[in-house]
Amino acid sequence: MVKLVKKISKSNTGKHLKIPEKSNPLDIYASSVANPENEIVRKEKSRNEIYELRKLAGKIVGGRQKDCGSKILKLNNHPTFDGNVTIMKTSEGKSYYSGLETCGSVWGCPVCSLKISTNRALEVKNTINNVISGGGNIYMATFTIPHYIFDRCDHTTNSVTTIWRKIKATRKYRKLKEQYKFIGDIRTLEITHGGNGWHPHLHILVGCNCSNEEMEEFLTNLFILWKEIAMKMKLGSCSLEAFKIAKVYDGDGASEYITKWSASSELVKGNQKLGKAGRTPFQILSDIVNGISQDIDKDKRLFQEYFNVFKGKRQLTWSKDFKKDYCDYDEKTDEEIAADEQGGVKVFSISKSVWYQINDHNLASHILNIYDLKGVGQIPIFLNSIGIICFHDKSKQLIYSNIEDLPLTSEFSDFL
Ligand SMILES: [Zn+2]
Repeated sequence: MVKLVKKISKSNTGKHLKIPEKSNPLDIYASSVANPENEIVRKEKSRNEIYELRKLAGKIVGGRQKDCGSKILKLNNHPTFDGNVTIMKTSEGKSYYSGLETCGSVWGCPVCSLKISTNRALEVKNTINNVISGGGNIYMATFTIPHYIFDRCDHTTNSVTTIWRKIKATRKYRKLKEQYKFIGDIRTLEITHGGNGWHPHLHILVGCNCSNEEMEEFLTNLFILWKEIAMKMKLGSCSLEAFKIAKVYDGDGASEYITKWSASSELVKGNQKLGKAGRTPFQILSDIVNGISQDIDKDKRLFQEYFNVFKGKRQLTWSKDFKKDYCDYDEKTDEEIAADEQGGVKVFSISKSVWYQINDHNLASHILNIYDLKGVGQIPIFLNSIGIICFHDKSKQLIYSNIEDLPLTSEFSDFL
């Protein structure tokens, strides 16, 4: 037992386990390049790609994902909505669409997933800061099981979540919680697909009122319990090598934890290298979109298989009362977060008929990029150049296609 703790403690000093103290997990557009023009190009590329991924995910899984970001909201469900698609601009200079359906799927939709994960990350950071400022200690641990190429996604995923549930039901676990002055934990589920098939794993953020050494002991004891239960369930022998722990120094230091479950953030950051552990489901979509998939039909089937298993599951599970006692944010559902406006001011609107043509031509992200770079005046010029006939009514800040829609007071000088 002592030997085991020592080994983990030693490996914890390895650089891959160390969480940087000063990184900001939410700053997904943080400039990593000196040249601002490169940064603009990268942001445009990221937006184009994430919109394309959403479209592809919608085609594969259907349902609400199909309409996310493309279908205009129904007027009767939203009394203050005028029926046009609105482009909003936040005080940080970010432009986005308002007036469109959102699917709120953290597993199936890269756009909603990014928004939800960013919001959940704020909750996690806030909780970590509150625990640490109260004198508590936070560690992250990663648990997994042996997995093989022919394992089904549902079997391995359900095995991983079942082991954790069983651990929590043991008397031994309850005793450990008391011994190490447990405060709370947050469990997140992640999956990748690689050479050995599906690889689900849990990242657990644990808070206790105890020293670093005691935290390591506590987590090592959890690993022993994990291994015992996995053996009983005939899931094979879990390797100590695959068990990783790391101290989390503050809210910002949770970046490694957050980016692990926020696969969509990784996509936006452009970090799409095939890791040792394989591809995340959004990376599978990305390979198809970027033309580097080795088997498009197989990749589509993989995404569908994963989605069928994960839909309805929680991305983050908090231990009882942990969120209530340590998080200052209001409880919101994924759907509420996805549908939430990001604030800012209305800059212009696009009428229904123009919007559906933009959507049919997959130009939604491109229109925002044009606005960001050149302003609203260039949008009708671009649309007319590709055969989408439309006009710009400056007084109404509206781009529209039907001459009958034009109010009598409008300026006609902007006809193109
Ligand atoms: Zn969505």
